[in-house]
Amino acid sequence: MKDLTKISVQYLPGVGQSRAALLSKELNINTPHDLLYYFPYKHIDRSRLYYINEIDGNMPYIQLKGRILSYETVGTGRKMRLVGHFSDGTGFIDLVWFQFGSYIQKKYKLNTDYIVFGKPTVFNGRINLAHPDIDAANELDLSEIGLRPYYNTTERMKRMNLTSSTIHKLVTTLFASLTEPIPETLPDFFIQQNHLLPLDSALRAIHFPKNPEQLRQAEYRLKFEELFYIQLNIIRYAHSRRANVKGLRFPIVGQLFHDFYSKKLPFPLTNAQKRVIREMRDDMNSGKQMNRLLQGDVGSGKTLVAMLTMLIAISNGYQACIMAPTEILAEQHYATISSMLEGLPVSVALLTGSIRGKRREPILEGLQDGSVNLLIATHAVLEDTVSFHALGLVVVDEQHRFGVAQRAKLWNKNDFLPHVLVMTATPIPRTLAMTLYGDLDVSVIDELPPGRKPVVTEHRYDKDKGALFRFIRAQVNEGRQIYIVYPLIKESEKMDLKNLEEGYKNIKEVFPEFNISMVHGQMKPAEKEEEMQKFVRNETQIMVATTVIEVGVNVPNASVMIIENAERFGLSQLHQLRGRVGRGADQSYCILVTSFKLTNESIKRIEIMTRTNDGFEIAEADLKLRGPGDLEGTQQSGIAFDLHIANLARDGQLLQHVRNLAERIVTEDPD
Ligand code: ADP
Ligand code: MG
Repeated sequence: MKDLTKISVQYLPGVGQSRAALLSKELNINTPHDLLYYFPYKHIDRSRLYYINEIDGNMPYIQLKGRILSYETVGTGRKMRLVGHFSDGTGFIDLVWFQFGSYIQKKYKLNTDYIVFGKPTVFNGRINLAHPDIDAANELDLSEIGLRPYYNTTERMKRMNLTSSTIHKLVTTLFASLTEPIPETLPDFFIQQNHLLPLDSALRAIHFPKNPEQLRQAEYRLKFEELFYIQLNIIRYAHSRRANVKGLRFPIVGQLFHDFYSKKLPFPLTNAQKRVIREMRDDMNSGKQMNRLLQGDVGSGKTLVAMLTMLIAISNGYQACIMAPTEILAEQHYATISSMLEGLPVSVALLTGSIRGKRREPILEGLQDGSVNLLIATHAVLEDTVSFHALGLVVVDEQHRFGVAQRAKLWNKNDFLPHVLVMTATPIPRTLAMTLYGDLDVSVIDELPPGRKPVVTEHRYDKDKGALFRFIRAQVNEGRQIYIVYPLIKESEKMDLKNLEEGYKNIKEVFPEFNISMVHGQMKPAEKEEEMQKFVRNETQIMVATTVIEVGVNVPNASVMIIENAERFGLSQLHQLRGRVGRGADQSYCILVTSFKLTNESIKRIEIMTRTNDGFEIAEADLKLRGPGDLEGTQQSGIAFDLHIANLARDGQLLQHVRNLAERIVTEDPD
């Protein structure tokens, strides 16, 4: 048999040059193999016949058996349509064609038995089937068609008459032209063990299923294979990297760690923090390079964990670097870490884009001669002018803001590979983590420090501002601080979006007795920083901001997060914003303010936010609502888009199953 991946789909009967071009451009179908793997997005059961007296305008696709009694042309101009009055003896409906040629009346004769298929709608009190599929009743064996497949097509394809049913016909032709079964891709024993359909049967069944059970088996086999090969590749890659890359060995925990632990640590570590520190200590003493993803919900104390891990690296004679996604965050890390390490023999430095010239030189020198032990940096560290004496550990905070290529740049600043710890507070659903970060080992901080009161989240409409303002005033008078977040800085076409600056002015008028800060993305870094610092020092009580404060900022005294136009934010963003409060001992609140006009999806998001504080639950819900392609962090990887049939939101269990299988196979036989 010809290799179906090597020939052009153009030569398949019924395709030809112009359709081939269209298939290639619109669906990226270039070969017969691509066509085989262009799966239907749904199937409709055509084994059942309905009667007209049991249908209404709300049903999905239905089919009827009956006769066309008469034709009539209705309306004029662009509204002109052809109506066929149809009856099965239990009632009457109208078959409707909007753009029609004379062929319809010739092809579908009066008083002949037909099976018509379509989606019923109600128009002028009568039930319509627009553009139905029609087959002669004596030519159609319903038990044979079973489930009819539907393929996605684009508007352009539809205009050129390349419809779902055309694609179905092409696939039919393709199968008819095959002289042998499609070659199997998995070994026999593996197919048997896992109760899979052979590939040939699965491909036939996904395009022409006889019944729902056969369809289910076909989908299972194809999803299984798709996810299995992704996992096999990731695990093989991780395995060979572990086997081939020699890692730095950090044999001691060291005096710094012990001194900090016994003298400076302001509170006991949570069990989860202890566990992940132990996991990393073991990694760094294993002789292999550590590649670990540390997941922990907002406020779970990842910074402290990172710092303790960095102390281990330093005691073993190496430098450590933590990279933050924004200057605000880097400066905040710098402040926290230097004050925590005060009195210990560690030299800490900060490197950001705004540290230039004379202030930058000594830092660069210190990194090069090794006198700087611990660096806190932004992207600025990636510049070629920055080099290290001996960089032993890199911590990447809030990873999703860093590209993979940027991370790799850091590794190249040494002759040897440093250990790598990637931290993220954006809870990534397990299924996604397994595909995106499948080559990293994962540690999870699944416990918040004790004494935290869960944030109380409430929904308010923007009409009742009075009560909200009274609440803000009461909280500030008790000594608390407030965030008010707006979606945009300058309103543009979207006139219904509130303007941050207008909001700021309004808040100033309502609360003349308080000091108010404003921070947004278009301010100069220095200005932004100054406003931020005023809020940190409690010189301002209310912070009016855009989402620039979304990531990482830590002001434990802030206890209220008000999110204006909350319906405009995605779930993970709302959760990140909410994570800015609830960091101190006081009861904290998150108020989601919306207009009355809400889409179903925003109602769902608000419902989820008010119901749970659990980041993982929210991430799963987000994945289900939006699909993996939209989630932050998935864009660069491309993995989520390459799936033909598996769905990361729905097929989590299967993914876990094939991952275990792949792991067992690679462990038993790495080659
Ligand atoms: P995140 O994981 O979101 O980066 P942080 O590291 O900013 O969280 O920590 C949030 C707050 O919790 C900080 O104020 C930190 O000092 C505090 N914290 C961290 N660990 C503990 C602990 N074991 N007990 C009490 N407070 C802690
Ligand atoms: Mg953090």
